[in-house]
Amino acid sequence: MVIFKQEKELKEYLDKASEKIGFIPTMGALHRGHTSLIHQAKDDGLMTVCSIFVNPTQFNDPEDFKKYPVSVEADIELLVEANCDVLFLPDVPTVYPNGTEAAVAYDFGDLENILEGAHRPGHFRGVGQVVARLIELVNPAFLYLGQKDYQQCMIIGKLIELMGNECKVRLRVCPTVREEDGLAMSSRNRRLSEAQRSLSAMIYQCLISIEAKEGIAPFSLVEKECIELLERKGFRPEYVALADAETLKPLSDYDSSHKMVALIAAWIGKIRLIDNLVLQQVSSTS
Ligand code: AMP
Repeated sequence: MVIFKQEKELKEYLDKASEKIGFIPTMGALHRGHTSLIHQAKDDGLMTVCSIFVNPTQFNDPEDFKKYPVSVEADIELLVEANCDVLFLPDVPTVYPNGTEAAVAYDFGDLENILEGAHRPGHFRGVGQVVARLIELVNPAFLYLGQKDYQQCMIIGKLIELMGNECKVRLRVCPTVREEDGLAMSSRNRRLSEAQRSLSAMIYQCLISIEAKEGIAPFSLVEKECIELLERKGFRPEYVALADAETLKPLSDYDSSHKMVALIAAWIGKIRLIDNLVLQQVSSTS
């Protein structure tokens, strides 16, 4: 694996390469969720470029930014094991040569103000800024993202549309990789205490119960049960939501005419966890 920190060297190297590029943008503190994206891109026969950059403009909470785990050496080991071809490790001036304020902010409409956007104001503007710039730097054919960040995948889909003809990248959304008990892998999980870690699978259990109760109970009741259960276990849930999986428009109740996704965000102590599950479509029996 070759490592670049500067734009010029990265571009020179990538310009000479003949293969199409599969790009995996990350913020580091890598785990099997991240490496699953590398494996998918490799299986798709692409040259894999992974970036590690903790983007300051997407953190609405300065404390979260300060505490974001950094483990570059271990990350490099994981990437080498995963057969990643190129690691791009830029600093802030490389990503934002004219300063963070000057970076183009795309307008994602309602999509940036609901769910995650409602609770993390400005977050998706920051995500849009960094991904647009990284796409410009890497010029990939395919971008690999994890379903774990469902709304982010939709924002980036919209970003590609908004970037128009200058951006020919295609999106590949890969399944969420989970721990054995169902907890979605996340860099933030490293900050969980043992006690918090053992409770954290509750979020996935709630998602499963939302799926299981379709046709059995109204969503408003299921939502209430999930919130109460999470609170009883010591979480501070921000939302337990059901939405149209294609548009992310909130649904007040199950509606089998839509493909649906259930989404949860909840704090445990000072750590905010998110997860989601696309509901299996119930087959209609006639
Ligand atoms: P992050 O480093 O958290 O910004 O994540 C970088 C990429 O890895 C994003 O596309 C995430 O959605 C994806 N990712 C993070 N966790 C997982 C997971 N558990 N399973 C699959 N993809 C993931």
